[in-house]
Amino acid sequence: MARIVEIDYRKCVHCQDCIGVCPVGVYKFVGKRVRVVDPKSCLGPSCQMCADACWKMAITVESGSPDPALATGAGAEGH
Ligand code: SF4
Ligand code: SF4
Repeated sequence: MARIVEIDYRKCVHCQDCIGVCPVGVYKFVGKRVRVVDPKSCLGPSCQMCADACWKMAITVESGSPDPALATGAGAEGH
């Protein structure tokens, strides 16, 4: 299932703590920034270890699928 992992860059100070705690390598330090590089591997909201570790409270982890309105394409608009 798709996951949404977001870093709020207004808050993030690129300390890399989240990289250290994530067991599946969702985060990576690239070009002086901590980035979400592999959200597909995220274990989802039941994990939240990164969000707990982030002392700037910059991380949001959500299940990616439940909002069909955001699903792309299929031409099902207007319902
Ligand atoms: S733990 Fe929080 S502040 Fe630190 S790099 Fe990750 S998102 Fe940014
Ligand atoms: S919720 Fe868990 S698996 Fe997902 S990015 Fe955060 S630490 Fe990694």
